[in-house]
Amino acid sequence: MQLSWHRQDLRLHRPFTIARGTAVKKQTLVVELTQDGVTGLGEAVPTNYYGQSLDSAERTLAAMQPLLGEDPFNLQSILELLLQRFGDQLATVAAVDFALHDWLGKRLGVPTWRLLGLDPAKAPPTSFTIGIDKPELIEQKVAEAAWHPILKVKLGTEFDEAILQAVRRIAPEKRIRVDANAGWKPQQALDNIRMCARYGVEYVEQPVPPGDNETLRRLREARVLPIVVDESCVVAGDVARLNGCVDGINIKLDKCGGIRAGLQMIHAAKILGMKVMLGCMIGSSLYIAALAQLSPLADWLDLDGHLLLAEDPFEGLGYQAGRLILSDRPGLGVASRA
Ligand code: MG
Repeated sequence: MQLSWHRQDLRLHRPFTIARGTAVKKQTLVVELTQDGVTGLGEAVPTNYYGQSLDSAERTLAAMQPLLGEDPFNLQSILELLLQRFGDQLATVAAVDFALHDWLGKRLGVPTWRLLGLDPAKAPPTSFTIGIDKPELIEQKVAEAAWHPILKVKLGTEFDEAILQAVRRIAPEKRIRVDANAGWKPQQALDNIRMCARYGVEYVEQPVPPGDNETLRRLREARVLPIVVDESCVVAGDVARLNGCVDGINIKLDKCGGIRAGLQMIHAAKILGMKVMLGCMIGSSLYIAALAQLSPLADWLDLDGHLLLAEDPFEGLGYQAGRLILSDRPGLGVASRA
């Protein structure tokens, strides 16, 4: 198999702020995997927070090249090896997993979701994210997001209640969820969750920093709102440790190493009675299409990373009022607009 890659510049529609910082643009890597005249595509979205960069992703791809062999159908062995060798570069492992799945679908002439035996009609609608801003701007963003049926509101500031008030002034009835991105101190978290409940929030994501599962357990046992974790749950091994501490986990395929690793996490979560949320970073619809292949298995979806872009370099993934529409084309179903 031949791997090649290039950096892709993405421009956001407007600056995007969470508890840890602000982004106005973003670079990702488009990965191409070619064998027998068929090319599978994937996108790597490396994350500083997990010790990854575009440079480390490119070094990882170069190191992977000689390990891939000649048979993309050999998924299990290839990905086992990559996960074992590059466990700190899972966003890059995920991109190769996406490209392998795209290749298999293209080679067999079927969409990846079909190869996985899934029914896109079972996927729940996605939320649309409202990043941190001054309340006036929040009102404007919520008004612009009128056609998105569910909002995910980023909190973790000194003015969280003012943000929710602004959301509710514009969208008094809309389904809303909150993501604190680890921005609350353990002693303030329960009060903040009670405050969220007063504004009709559906669930709270990552209230406190990762590594504090006992606080999560205490918050869950207070039974005010369901507790979901993201930063606390990176790979499959984290799921069992969270048993009894949370109501659900936010699985991001670039955190865990791709579709195959994500399936393992989904099964683990379901066995333990946890809800499954599928989430994303910011990337093009090539990346989101890969994540969305598993959307029929999710209870909650937050796959809006491509909707935050000013222009999307790929086409093929539809969107209508919260519904991601997976293509019937083979593989991930997306192609470059260029
Ligand atoms: Mg999150």
